[in-house]
Amino acid sequence: MPKVGIPRALLYYNYFPLWKVFFEELGAEVVLSGLTNKKILDDGVNCCVDDACLPMKVFHGHAVHLKDRVDYLFVPRLISVEKNEYICPKFCGLPDMVINSIEGLPKVIDCTINLRDGNKSLRKAVLEVGGLFTGSLSRIYNAYQKASAELADYERLMLNGATPLEALNGNGPPPADYQYSIGLIGHPYNIYDNYVSMSIIEKLRGRGINVLTQDMVCKEELDRIAEGFTKPMFWSFGKKIMAASSYLIDQRNVRGIIYLVAFGCGLDALVGDLVERRIRKKGVPFCMITIDEHTGEAGVDTRLEAFIDMLEWRDTQKCL
Ligand code: SF4
Repeated sequence: MPKVGIPRALLYYNYFPLWKVFFEELGAEVVLSGLTNKKILDDGVNCCVDDACLPMKVFHGHAVHLKDRVDYLFVPRLISVEKNEYICPKFCGLPDMVINSIEGLPKVIDCTINLRDGNKSLRKAVLEVGGLFTGSLSRIYNAYQKASAELADYERLMLNGATPLEALNGNGPPPADYQYSIGLIGHPYNIYDNYVSMSIIEKLRGRGINVLTQDMVCKEELDRIAEGFTKPMFWSFGKKIMAASSYLIDQRNVRGIIYLVAFGCGLDALVGDLVERRIRKKGVPFCMITIDEHTGEAGVDTRLEAFIDMLEWRDTQKCL
């Protein structure tokens, strides 16, 4: 049975159930890299170009972790995941970066996904990748249908408040009696990777705070809010982050917003400023936490504690 390695990084948090079921239905064994840890990060830092952002370095570390254990490494070339929108250009060059930075790789599956003009490239990619494992078009088609249904279930669990790890285990969020909610926004690979985010979600939940992210807001709501932007936002992630922060403040009554950004991310630098202005206009506390491979956990904890203390102090002032 051929083994396909999927790095637990970048858009793993968005699409893993789809990729996993698709490959498995085609008769492959999916091998997932481990949870991010110091060794994986160090390996990524050592082989990746210096000025890459933290998530790209983390991805390289996961690729290193997998390369000797699999027959194929899945590194899709993602250009656009929504009609008329783009994602960060670093995703377009990711297979080239990986191939040129890491020696001794197995065959890299680097199909191109570009939904900007519709689904044509998706069909092509599905057939191209499926064709590596079977000559049967109906088997490829059925595998993709099943994989899409799996992804829809996963997204439904996230809409109900589950983190990716909880949703991947088929669970909703743990039952809890939270005192209030905070919005946590940022790229999924920053906020859901516990090593990168320093377990920010668990820390907030541990303080009795419900954490709401952009993936817990339905796409229709986000699109509706984005239609009201003064100019269309053509970065898919930027649009989602901006629209979600408005929705969480107006509809979910969050007490504050935390934006987790990766040092060196051009998109976060632009979107962060826009988001901060919109949030501050609404009078809602905002905290931007920047992370990179040198960030110490104590510093992040101090920022979090100070932000929570401030939110709770504001609450006591309102009651006086
Ligand atoms: S959006 Fe930012 S953090 Fe994500 S890959 Fe691009 S530069 Fe890196």
